[in-house]
Amino acid sequence: MPRIFAQPSSVKLPQRKGESKHEQYGTAHKGIVLCSSCYNIFAGKKWHAPESALVQHAMVRGKNINFHLCPACTMARDHTFEGELIIKNIPQKYDAEIVHLVAASGARATAMDPQDRILSIQKRANGYRVRTSENQLAVKIAKKIKSSFKKKIVMHISYADEPSEVSRILVTFQSKKKE
Ligand SMILES: [Zn+2]
Repeated sequence: MPRIFAQPSSVKLPQRKGESKHEQYGTAHKGIVLCSSCYNIFAGKKWHAPESALVQHAMVRGKNINFHLCPACTMARDHTFEGELIIKNIPQKYDAEIVHLVAASGARATAMDPQDRILSIQKRANGYRVRTSENQLAVKIAKKIKSSFKKKIVMHISYADEPSEVSRILVTFQSKKKE
């Protein structure tokens, strides 16, 4: 029988890399931690989706349940993020395909780790601004766009070099014709 909720007194919420802003999760909680917004469950040193087999098979009866916002929901609430992807100059004919690709990449990442999420996709004049809960997810999406479109259009990707935990990536579509 899985014992992922064993030793409840040792349950600690995770410190994801560089997340001092989540220090409130660093304190020990007795019992089980459940996100009051998305119902992710913290167990076995990581967050699990509520539908994960691990959680469904776990013994939760008789344990204290502590409700907290998980790191990803906290970011959504506070409008903070760890990854930002700006996509510019999208040719009109690829607009819908780009949005689909971004959303699909996000869904795939969330399926792998429920804390890796797209927090927002905002339409801009000639593109989109995508914010993610995890900096590598923004990088992954940029790479996916690049690999999917490199044969069709010229693209420039730049990674902002900032002294912060936030990754900012700019993907600019460029016309193949000389202007
Ligand atoms: Zn949550």
